[in-house]
Amino acid sequence: MRRVLHGVGASRGLALGRARVRQPQVLQLSPQTLPAERVEAELQRLDRALAIARAELATLRARLQGQLAREVGEFIDLHVLILDDPELVDGLRDLVRHQRHTADYALKLQRDRLAAVFRSMDNDYFRTRLDDLDHVIGRVHAALQEREDDGRLGLAGEILVADDIAPAELAELSRQQLLAVATRAGSPLSHSAIIARGLGLPMVVGCAEALAHINDGDALLLDGRDGQLIVEPEAADLARYHERQASLVAKRGALERLRQAPTQTRDGTAIRLQANGERREEIAAALAAGADGIGLFRSEFLFMGRSGLPDEEEQFLAYRDAVLGMAGRPVTLRTLDLGADKADDSGLALRNEPNPALGLRGVRLSLSRPGLLDAQLRAMLRASAFGPVRVLVPMVSAREETDAMRSRLLRLAGRLRDEGVAIGDRVAFGIMLEVPATALTLADHRDLIDFVAIGTNDLVQYLLAADRTHEALGGLYSERHPAVLRLLHRLFSEARSAGLPLHVCGELANRPEDVPLLLALGLRDFSVPASAVLEVREAIGDCDLGRLRRRAAALLRCRERAEIEAWLARAVPA
Ligand code: PEP
Ligand code: MG
Repeated sequence: MRRVLHGVGASRGLALGRARVRQPQVLQLSPQTLPAERVEAELQRLDRALAIARAELATLRARLQGQLAREVGEFIDLHVLILDDPELVDGLRDLVRHQRHTADYALKLQRDRLAAVFRSMDNDYFRTRLDDLDHVIGRVHAALQEREDDGRLGLAGEILVADDIAPAELAELSRQQLLAVATRAGSPLSHSAIIARGLGLPMVVGCAEALAHINDGDALLLDGRDGQLIVEPEAADLARYHERQASLVAKRGALERLRQAPTQTRDGTAIRLQANGERREEIAAALAAGADGIGLFRSEFLFMGRSGLPDEEEQFLAYRDAVLGMAGRPVTLRTLDLGADKADDSGLALRNEPNPALGLRGVRLSLSRPGLLDAQLRAMLRASAFGPVRVLVPMVSAREETDAMRSRLLRLAGRLRDEGVAIGDRVAFGIMLEVPATALTLADHRDLIDFVAIGTNDLVQYLLAADRTHEALGGLYSERHPAVLRLLHRLFSEARSAGLPLHVCGELANRPEDVPLLLALGLRDFSVPASAVLEVREAIGDCDLGRLRRRAAALLRCRERAEIEAWLARAVPA
């Protein structure tokens, strides 16, 4: 029967396929005492399952290549460590040998015991480890049951419906032509979601009813943009799907023609269009789409999904790759922005902060860890020997922070030169406008900076006091708020008068439907995900800047979202 389920769109794209449902690995088993003579055979069965699980992880590890290997390899290593942990393995053997439990039941007991220990620590870090423990236990259980696990069987042409998914698994399944993923848990900001977007794999997360209402083998229509799942779609759904697919294909074809076209409005004003990205494929896509540079390289991605920290050399190589990949176009490297919604496994970002979005994140964290900051800045400076680099500082809320970061950068540049290490002649230094206090006092930072980037994702959350990750807030978190538009207008004008280069790199810039708003308010430099460059170039090309300018005053007078939307509806004549 047709049923529509709602979640949160985490990675755009449409997919139509068979559902493969994977229930969470809760082991619902009852105790069963083995006869004494079967104990040895059961121990062998357990050892075989452990060996299979280890071999699967080794195969997974060997198949990963390039950046993905670096990103997800850490997860796999962690799973291997759990699998080899004597606490787990010896405990399992004891339960089989001395209590005469089946290996399956022993697995359940050990899982529950370790989970209780993790939970009692009341610490987010250990809760994350609990997910990893479940992934490992699930793998051993599948091997005990001699069930082909998803990784071995392959999910080609199918849509995985699961409680949650680990980044390593996502990368592997995508390689096997998995069509899409829907999860009950998860957030669009999870590392898995970020990887799905990088891989172009449609994904819906936070779909509470997914496991209860989708059966293995159901036909499923997944919309990763709107976060919608249609189970057993009917004729009208399929017709809409085929229509949208056809128009997406046609649109892609039309966009291809814009690849190396200049970015300009319909009435001929040139607009700068840069890309956000850090993975090698994203940098390559940015260059291929004719982006004017990288407007945001989020360096925290080098720190996430791993337990250790990347050293100066590893960072240098990643930054240098990006600089070389952009072939002479500027690359904006942002210093670490861990904390708040971007948790790491290295223990750098504090856990259990009462208000993480208002806590030790971004530049605050960097300044509290001078050794780490120096390694990062040195790596960035060294990369500048290979092409133009701009260093960008996130979450600045006071001039003192701008000053401290700039002084540090200058001091390190001097030291590197003294050491005879090659660095670029001029490394531009800028800050992100994300905290309203800094937006309101931009002029006070002017003498310290060469450029600014507006991070609307955070600026909007702090301006409207609305958590950017809070689903229950619904439409309250919105860029289409008069305060947001008026503040942006003020910043664009102020930067222009001060001759200060400014670009917007938040999500707002990459929504083609909001491009007329930003142009009307005065923005002339966009930075959007590499995959959105062509679409935004097209949207800019549809705009008549003269007309938008004439209508700007009316936009600034809007008092409600509905008025802003009515303005937008009239902004670009069909
Ligand atoms: C922003 O806040 O708009 C931004 C670009 O930074 P991030 O999304 O990484 O916080
Ligand atoms: Mg931000």
